[in-house]
Amino acid sequence: MSISSRFSQAIATLKEKMRSCDLCPIQCKVNRHQTVGRCKVGDLARLMSVVLHFGEEPPISGESGAGTIFFSGCNLRCIYCQNMNFSQLAKGIEITQEDLAEIFLDLQNHGAKTLNLVSPTPHILSIVEALAIAKEKGLSLPVVYNTSGYESVETLRLLDGIVDVYLADLKYADDETGYLYSGVKDYYTVTTKALIEMHRQVGALREDSEPLKGLIVRHLVLPNNVAGTEKVLDFVFHSLSPSVPISLMSQYNPLFGARSDPLISRKVSKEEYEKAIEKVIQLGMNGWIQTDEKKRVTAKPVPSTYKIIDLMKSKT
Ligand code: SF4
Repeated sequence: MSISSRFSQAIATLKEKMRSCDLCPIQCKVNRHQTVGRCKVGDLARLMSVVLHFGEEPPISGESGAGTIFFSGCNLRCIYCQNMNFSQLAKGIEITQEDLAEIFLDLQNHGAKTLNLVSPTPHILSIVEALAIAKEKGLSLPVVYNTSGYESVETLRLLDGIVDVYLADLKYADDETGYLYSGVKDYYTVTTKALIEMHRQVGALREDSEPLKGLIVRHLVLPNNVAGTEKVLDFVFHSLSPSVPISLMSQYNPLFGARSDPLISRKVSKEEYEKAIEKVIQLGMNGWIQTDEKKRVTAKPVPSTYKIIDLMKSKT
C-alpha cells in the first residue's frame, strides 16, 4: 500500500471511530464532534506546549533535541501525575490540523531530531491528518508516539506504517495496581497486548536504524515496589524481546493524591532504584538508567533533568 493511501485509509477509519469514540480502551462511545469523553478532548487537537526537549532518551533527543509536543487530555487518572493541569484538567489551546502540520514543520526547521508526540492518544485523527499535510510539504522527521501504553490494539493497527518509534510506558505489573493508582481496571492486560502490537509493527529500537525505528519501553520505579518492577522487566525481556530497550526511570515525585497514600507518599530510595538496576543487569537488558554512578551495565545513563527550549514562548 502506498504511503498516501495508508494515510487516507487511516483517516477515514479514525473519522468513523470519532463518531462513537472507541479510539482508546475507555470506549466512551461519545460523538467527539459534538461532545467530549473522559479525555476531555473534542474533535480538534488541544496542546499545552511545543519544545525542543533534550532530556528524552538519547536516540529520541540526540544532540539537537526532540521536537516535542505536549498534548492535553488523558484517558488515565494517575493520582501522582506531574502534568495534572494539562493531562487530567485538559488545559491548553485547540488547534487545526493545518496549524498542527505547520508546528511539525517548524520543529523540523529548528533542527529537531525527532517529532515527539506526548500523550497523543485522543488526538490521533488530528495527528494523522496533520502528518499527511506536513509530509506533502517535506516533513521527514521520525514520528515518535510517546504514550502511557494504555492503547487499543485496533487503533494502533491504523498507525502501522505511520509511526516510526513507539516510546511506551509499562507502569504496573498487574491490573489491581493500575486501578488503584491510574483509575482503569485493566491497565496491565490492555497495555501488554498493546506493547506486543507495537513490537510487531516496528520491532525493538535500534539506535543505528536509518530512519530511526522501533519500540522503547519506559518504566517508572515506585516506592515499596508498587510498580512491580521485576515482573515488568521480565515481561519486556521474556514476552516482548530481549532486544527491546528499557528506560528505567527514578524521578518519581509524590504529588496530589499520592501525598496521602500509605505506599507512594515518598520518593524512591537509592536502594529501591539500585535493586531495579540489578534486575536489569541480571537479565542483561539494553537501554538507559538514570544514575550518576558508573555501573557495568549495557544500559546507559540518561540525563535526569530537562533542558527545554520553549518554541511557543519564543514566538510571543
Ligand atoms: S479517546 Fe477520549 S473520548 Fe475516546 S474513548 Fe478514549 S477517553 Fe473516551
